[in-house]
Amino acid sequence: MALEIIESCVNCYACEPLCQSKAIYEAKPHFLIDASKCTECAGDFADPQCASICPIEGAILDESGVAINPPGSLTGIPVQKLAA
Ligand code: SF4
Ligand code: SF4
Repeated sequence: MALEIIESCVNCYACEPLCQSKAIYEAKPHFLIDASKCTECAGDFADPQCASICPIEGAILDESGVAINPPGSLTGIPVQKLAA
């Protein structure tokens, strides 16, 4: 049970201090989540704290590889317009 940070991460540092499990660490080329430490914030918070603050849509995936903040979820820009 762990989330994953992918290459679209812009290394903004916002998520790292919010992780109670100390699962997020700076790496190259982008921040990563230690899967052995990530609890998905279960029991501590209603939502994963890293994904709640991450400003980049799609940078954090759930265990199934699905974006926690999918395209359009933060900007409100419809996906069709992004593609245009
Ligand atoms: S889901 Fe919670 S425990 Fe997992 S990396 Fe994000 S903040 Fe840390
Ligand atoms: S908040 Fe998002 S963009 Fe910022 S470092 Fe964390 S994963 Fe990367």
